[in-house]
Amino acid sequence: MEFLPPALTALINELERLPGVGPKSAHRLAFHLLRTPRASVERLSRSLAELKDGVAFCDTCAFISQGAQCAICADPNRDQTLLCIVEEPTDVIAIERTREYRGRYHVLGGAISPIDGVGPGEIRVEELLTRLRLGGVAEVILATDVDVEGEATSAYLAQVISELGDEIRVSRLARGLPMGGELEYADELTIARALSGRRPF
Ligand SMILES: [Zn+2]
Repeated sequence: MEFLPPALTALINELERLPGVGPKSAHRLAFHLLRTPRASVERLSRSLAELKDGVAFCDTCAFISQGAQCAICADPNRDQTLLCIVEEPTDVIAIERTREYRGRYHVLGGAISPIDGVGPGEIRVEELLTRLRLGGVAEVILATDVDVEGEATSAYLAQVISELGDEIRVSRLARGLPMGGELEYADELTIARALSGRRPF
């Protein structure tokens, strides 16, 4: 749209790249920002710049963190004997929203999917086993998505964890999560129920 100022077109193009934002929403957002007072737009712009400067991933669990350790790993009140395995950082946020879980996490960064060329070596399995070998974990809760990849990943992890010895119990979230659904989109009550109703793998 060459009749629009280049700065506005550039913004629309960038917004359109965001997940869930189509051309219509991109236009709406861009025009909204155009009408927004300068101070709030500058706040937004500052947050975007700081996001890439200050925020990275936790050395221990790979959740989002500002510094080497995330707030959850650094919290001494968290139960160190419980470890919940999830696919993505957004899954941690979904489980935290339930306020039911007081243990720690391990973010895999994906799920095993042979069709997509993702094997155990492509996700953080080795890091998980290293953590477990340090001892102290009594139960591992497999909270991967309820789809083919998520189930395959859980089955694989249950197998390799059992090879470490029988001190670590392995459980899987209870049924009730939407089939094929990603954990991050399930509502809080459903996740809380799946957590409390977890069963041995
Ligand atoms: Zn962490």
